[in-house]
Amino acid sequence: MNTILSAYFKLEANRFAPWKSDPERFRERVYEVGDEAVRERFQGTSFEIPGFEEVIDPLDGYEIKTSFAFEAQPGGDVTHEVYDPALRMFLNDIAECKKQAASEGKDPDRVPRAILLALHGAMVAEDHEDADGDFLEAVRNAVGPDCPIFVTLDLHVNLTKKMAKYADALFPCENYPHTDYRENGVKAAKILIDTLEGRVRPVMSVKSLPMLFPYTPTTGDTFREYYRKIREINALPGVLNFRFSHGFFASDVTEGGPAAIAVTDNDPALAERLANDFAAEIYDHRASFFRKFYQPEEALEKARELLNSGVKAPIVLADVADNPGSGATGDSPVLLNAMIQAGIPSMYSAIFDPESVRLAEEAGVGSEVELDLGGKVYPECTGGPVRVKAKVLQLSDGNYIQEGPYMHGALQKLGRSVLLGIGNVKVIVCSIRIQTSDRASFHMFGLSPETCPVVAVKSAVHFRASYESVAGAVLEVETPALGPMDPRALTYTNVPKDFYPLNQG
Ligand SMILES: [Zn+2]
Repeated sequence: MNTILSAYFKLEANRFAPWKSDPERFRERVYEVGDEAVRERFQGTSFEIPGFEEVIDPLDGYEIKTSFAFEAQPGGDVTHEVYDPALRMFLNDIAECKKQAASEGKDPDRVPRAILLALHGAMVAEDHEDADGDFLEAVRNAVGPDCPIFVTLDLHVNLTKKMAKYADALFPCENYPHTDYRENGVKAAKILIDTLEGRVRPVMSVKSLPMLFPYTPTTGDTFREYYRKIREINALPGVLNFRFSHGFFASDVTEGGPAAIAVTDNDPALAERLANDFAAEIYDHRASFFRKFYQPEEALEKARELLNSGVKAPIVLADVADNPGSGATGDSPVLLNAMIQAGIPSMYSAIFDPESVRLAEEAGVGSEVELDLGGKVYPECTGGPVRVKAKVLQLSDGNYIQEGPYMHGALQKLGRSVLLGIGNVKVIVCSIRIQTSDRASFHMFGLSPETCPVVAVKSAVHFRASYESVAGAVLEVETPALGPMDPRALTYTNVPKDFYPLNQG
């Protein structure tokens, strides 16, 4: 039996967030130990792990075993209490695999047959700025130079020299919204099997760029042409996989630029040429990726104008900078307040505020409450709470299943949640910080965002997977928060000063 060992370990570090990613942060999202628990958790979802299993499970002579699946909502550094046992557990599973082979009289150097990991790639842990690179280094040391290590990654990986050195092939996902995690997992697993069967010999070239790349949907105007080119390159003879990763600037790391990654079938010159040419083209057009965003009042005026001119509901307002999906606090009430003032019938998902949830629960459904809503986690940044008179409309346990193509089938946990009515706005208030990118968060309360004039979400890009098909228009709104869309809004400690656009004076 050829055993392939796997693990799922994801954290996108936003080092401006005032909290650490400790065990509790992981437990409230994904924290599963052992192959059986991981399989059960991801069954029927669009993540990488079921993609790996889809390819490997039916093969004679191969098996895949996943040690653990840990993921937290983006935030500060992963603490030792999470990172150390995770790494230890994986190294232990490698050692166990070797021990068992030896007891069966087999060569322990040839087991496990391969490593296939699902990482994010922008993890920072205490004492590990390049936590993914350090993880891969430790795994490489344990399995030796001849065991293939393949890794799927997020599009927002901060790709480092260490990651490229210790892995044989890296597979950042291709789409933003990331609707292709599973597809990406299938691709990596297929190429891994082809490698083990001797049908291909992957070689990789990585070209990183000295710049910070704004959050850019791959379906949007500024990236559509490049996306098309990436697909064309993937279809060229000899190319096994070609990707362009965007990096994640809020990680504030020394190696954090976007990168072109080419994996070819034993053609290093082709891999190098493809990566260098594509990276050069992006760099030549670097200024074109910086786009403009609305202020809240401006966006609501625009929404009213669009609705009056016959554009169909909903007009979707994306509260892009306070997106928990990029490590923001998710509790800024700035856009919500502008919506309350504007008076257009609206819905908002979601404000993170456990204290207000508790007060609303105590008051009970049907009652009126006065609340200092949101703005509590980092008031210096978001401007503090807003005083509101709210009606408690509904209570919920906050669990729903993602319906759209992004993270399809995944259990989302908002924790204890309430639906409040404030003026003409129905707002979800939750007690676990999470990006509510899917219409399912409203469906959980029996609401129909599809027909509501204005709908606002705390999401930068992923909401597009669920909302673009029903929205009359999408307006991106920027409020003061920890996930600014323009990299120049943050003050960095580690990003090199000569990175574009920081070097623009
Ligand atoms: Zn991402």
